[in-house]
Amino acid sequence: MKRTEIASVLKSGQVGAEITVKGWVRTRRGSKNVNFIALNDGSTIHNLQVVAEAELFGEDLIKNINTGTALGVTGTLVASAGSGQAVELNARTIEVIGLADPEKYPIQPKRHTLEFLREMAHLRPRTATFSAIFRIRHAMVYAIHSFFHERGFYNVHTPIITSSDAEGAGEMFRVTVLPAENAPLNEEGKVDFSQDFFGKPANLTVSGQLEGELFAMALAKIYTFGPTFRAENSNTSRHLAEFWMIEPEVAFSDLNDNMDLAEDFLKYLINYALDHCMDDLQFLSNRLTEEEKNKPVEQRSMELISKLRFVAENDFVRLPYSQAIEILINSKPNKKGKFQYPVTGYGTDLQSEHERYLVEQEFKKPVILTNYPKEIKAFYMRLDDNGKTVAAMDVLFPQIGEIIGGSQREERIEVLEARMDEMNIPKHEMEWYLDTRRFGGCPHAGFGLGFERLMLFVTGMGNIRDVIPFARTPKNCEF
Ligand code: ATP
Ligand code: MN
Repeated sequence: MKRTEIASVLKSGQVGAEITVKGWVRTRRGSKNVNFIALNDGSTIHNLQVVAEAELFGEDLIKNINTGTALGVTGTLVASAGSGQAVELNARTIEVIGLADPEKYPIQPKRHTLEFLREMAHLRPRTATFSAIFRIRHAMVYAIHSFFHERGFYNVHTPIITSSDAEGAGEMFRVTVLPAENAPLNEEGKVDFSQDFFGKPANLTVSGQLEGELFAMALAKIYTFGPTFRAENSNTSRHLAEFWMIEPEVAFSDLNDNMDLAEDFLKYLINYALDHCMDDLQFLSNRLTEEEKNKPVEQRSMELISKLRFVAENDFVRLPYSQAIEILINSKPNKKGKFQYPVTGYGTDLQSEHERYLVEQEFKKPVILTNYPKEIKAFYMRLDDNGKTVAAMDVLFPQIGEIIGGSQREERIEVLEARMDEMNIPKHEMEWYLDTRRFGGCPHAGFGLGFERLMLFVTGMGNIRDVIPFARTPKNCEF
């Protein structure tokens, strides 16, 4: 018989129907006469309860039905006597498809720590928590493409291997086929990349923006959604060496349009999760509440679903960097020396502790900070009329800090070239980029959303390693 998915059985299964389900055992409990098996097939957070009469199957079969075992069950749907589900499956035949030896299977029906499960990243999707996270991750991918498609944006695949290293967004990973030992040297005694695969140095991309801009100058509204790589040695709960980024780029658009787009985009994604992932969100919310029970009340975070609704329903605060600095200088934690990095004055590069203070203590809402000093931002951001600040915008979220970084781009070629000279960016390697300004240039703007930062927010998880299937961080590249 064809397999019916448990999601559809629980949603619309008719009492009396004869069905086959296939999935993995979450738990089995039972008495001498009857066993209850909680079966999960990944289609939903909920398990289907299978009732197996001992006399029908015999002890030998039943004792193999352990956590992690893959089963096929055929039987009749009956109204459930227990609470929590409308129907359960009375088993007529049970096929053990794949055994999981309980002596050796690491995932047991008890609470494992997230740290332990991180080491078991190949098996952790079998747990309720991680299956919920990765169903939501899929929903967010789908919603991202929907959002842009509905608004007439085109998806562009920018290169993953790149020879452009001028963006300066982070340390890069070199891509080479030269031997690590005895690499060929040139006359100056340096590695001779003319003998390398591409005939010059190449790296993994840190951002698709610069190439994205080229396409925005033709298709007007584009977005990229791809992996990005940063070899920065920051072992934090918000940084990965390999992460996914969404980067829209829009022609004939300024900083205000850019902020509107970012705010609409984030709200759309959060609403999508609320509309389509409620079962999984509810599970994660309960999990968080449970976890925070030991914390003092004032340290507990807002309940997950209320927090998502709150962000989706309220306007973000929009604030120039200069005003944020004023607020931070005069803030209690700064005066009392509680910040790890004290805010000394205009020009300070904000750390996540400052960003979170603004969002969580001062405004209690997401904040978009704009017009940063040019010294702490990238060369391509548009210079404001004061000559000191640039049309940058960072979107700051509770619990995360920076979730989006973006700007209106410098479209005036003289200004752009002057900025590149100031920042020692080799113009001759960037002729292709400067061409966008030479030929039919126009005001344009865009931003980058870190996909895993979004996932942290939507799932309420605390560590970025837990929202990507296989995390790559310093000294860690398993699987
Ligand atoms: P941060 O200051 O938090 O390190 P950034 O300013 O270096 O970030 P951008 O270059 O502006 O980051 O990148 C755009 C977005 O990509 C950020 O707003 C963030 O959401 C995400 N991002 C940046 N670096 C990482 C990373 N190492 N791991 C995961 N996401 C990241
Ligand atoms: Mn940034």
